[in-house]
Amino acid sequence: MIRTNNISFSYKEFEKPEELNTDDLELVFAARETAINAYAPYSKFKVGAAVRLESGIIVCGTNVENAAYPSSICAERSAFSNSVSNHHNDKPVAIAIAAMTEDGLTNEPVPPCGNCRQVIAEEESRTGNQIRIILSGKNKTMVIDSISSLLPLQFNKKI
Ligand SMILES: [Zn+2]
Repeated sequence: MIRTNNISFSYKEFEKPEELNTDDLELVFAARETAINAYAPYSKFKVGAAVRLESGIIVCGTNVENAAYPSSICAERSAFSNSVSNHHNDKPVAIAIAAMTEDGLTNEPVPPCGNCRQVIAEEESRTGNQIRIILSGKNKTMVIDSISSLLPLQFNKKI
C-alpha cells in the first residue's frame, strides 16, 4: 500500500520588526549590527546571526569567507561555535539572522543554508530546547518556532 503524506508548518510574519516582542527585536538589531563586521570580500553578502541564551546573554557571529571557498563559515555556525565554546551550559532559545548587500539590508528575510539548518538541529538535540528562528529583511520578518519546520525528516542522534 502506498501512502502520500504531507509536511507543512506555520510561522508568524511581521511587516515591521518593531511588531516583535522586545527580546526578539533586540536580537534582530544585534544580528543587523553584527552583519557589518562580516568578512565577505568574495560574495559581498554580509550576514549576521545573534543567538539568545536562556540567561539572556546574546552571542553573535558573522560569515567569515576565505580565498579557499569551502573554508568559509556562515554567520549562524559562527554564532553557535561562539555560544558553545564560551557558554556551554547556557542553552540557546532563539537565533536572529539578517543579511546585507552593498545596497544595505536585504529586502527579504534570508533563511539559513542546509549546513546551518543541520547545526541548529544538533543544538536543539544537544540541549533539548526548541530554538526560535527569526529571519528579518526590510520588507518582512518571519518567526519560526523550531528548526524541525525548516529541516523536516532531519538526521540526528535519535536515528
Ligand atoms: Zn549556513
